[in-house]
Amino acid sequence: MRLLLLVLGIIPLKADQPNILMILADDMGYGDLGCYGSLQIETPVLDKLAAAGIRCTDGYVCANVCAPSRAGLLTGRHPQRFGFEHNLNKAFPTLPERLGIPVEQKTIADHLKKAGYRTSIIGKWHVGDSVPGMLPNARGFDYFFGMHAGSHHYFPKAENNKLFRNEDPVTEIDHPYLTDWFTHEAIGQMTPAEQPFFCFLSYNTPHTPMQAKEEDLAKFAHLKGRRRQTYAAMQWCMDVNIGRILAHLEKTDQLENTLIVFYSDNGGSVTASHACNAPLNGMKGSFFEGGIRVPFIFHWPKGLPSGATFEHPFSSLDLLPTFIAAAGAPELPHRIKVGKKWQTITDGKNLLPHLRNQNAKPPHEVLFWRMTMRGAAIREGDWKLLVNVHTPPALYNLADDISEQNNLYQKMPEKVADLWLKLNHWQESLEDTPHWQEAPYWQGYNRKLYTHDYWLTQPARDEEYLGIR
Ligand code: CA
Repeated sequence: MRLLLLVLGIIPLKADQPNILMILADDMGYGDLGCYGSLQIETPVLDKLAAAGIRCTDGYVCANVCAPSRAGLLTGRHPQRFGFEHNLNKAFPTLPERLGIPVEQKTIADHLKKAGYRTSIIGKWHVGDSVPGMLPNARGFDYFFGMHAGSHHYFPKAENNKLFRNEDPVTEIDHPYLTDWFTHEAIGQMTPAEQPFFCFLSYNTPHTPMQAKEEDLAKFAHLKGRRRQTYAAMQWCMDVNIGRILAHLEKTDQLENTLIVFYSDNGGSVTASHACNAPLNGMKGSFFEGGIRVPFIFHWPKGLPSGATFEHPFSSLDLLPTFIAAAGAPELPHRIKVGKKWQTITDGKNLLPHLRNQNAKPPHEVLFWRMTMRGAAIREGDWKLLVNVHTPPALYNLADDISEQNNLYQKMPEKVADLWLKLNHWQESLEDTPHWQEAPYWQGYNRKLYTHDYWLTQPARDEEYLGIR
């Protein structure tokens, strides 16, 4: 069968299959890379990567907090389709097998393993550990090193160590700082071999707890405010580490044919970690742009243009079909009929033809978001409708109001009605209801997310930045 597919050109020769490296930052602000306008944080490696690859202005994640964003990325489906709508809440009374990505869902690693890849995940998992079938090694990953939960102490010690290697707890602390350790582990998975690699490097940087190495803090000693200084130092450390990975790929002659994607799982946490999403309003947890639009960089010298800017909206759900296409594996259908009902297989699109031709039509005409206990949103072209649970609805035109300051809801009732109808149709298509809910605490928290006074311009190099004004 494989020979037939090779002859027909449906899957490429193994030598042509690119390695795939997906690097995920955690809670990083839209404005916290040099190449996305930061005046305080230096990220020369990622800036260079973007300059040699494709820098995307309108890349979105499918959810505004960690766990559902990762569940969508791993499956290529809106996570609401399998009940994964909120961050994991172990206090919620439900069956353990309901609390995570249901075991029958296929992941990006399942697909790439089938296409001949060695698969690994290094770092944060956070999509379910309440039954063994939900752990990384059971979800298509040959190798796992990291933590099951959403965060980890950056200076691992015996008393705070929650790290695993595959299914075994890690007992020896090999590296004093976690970002360096994750990088070391990831490089170990990127050895040249007959089989290409798929490595999901899931840094928890710059998620809380805010902890950085002294040498990195010293570099940002001029910044006022310990939290912002620490955030800058953590970003710097991640950038240095990505530089180590690129040097390894270059030295082993793999860089040319490795598809690298870098982005953040949700918008910056302005209050908890002093991230900055400027010029975007809002933050992690909100459906303002600052909660869902993130830096997104593609780099693949052999397969994608260099020095390009991509301005069409797209979603993290697109990565799964994009990687499948890059691997030369058969394309997944958008949906199939099961009995009398249609079932959606993937919500994403292969981005490669769009990334290769900037003038091609946009990959998506419309994008959707929802968290039942917080709200929902739709973007169609430049229009965005926000339907929140705790604050009045709002309509924005992002082309001339990227910071979502001018609510046109009252002025354009027909546009509102059209978008709201499309949002409702999408919600009706979601096939499931949430398998768990958030703790009530988050309701009050959510209201505040829409009323904070956010920085909509970048703080100057030495300006004091304390998150909200
Ligand atoms: Ca996150």
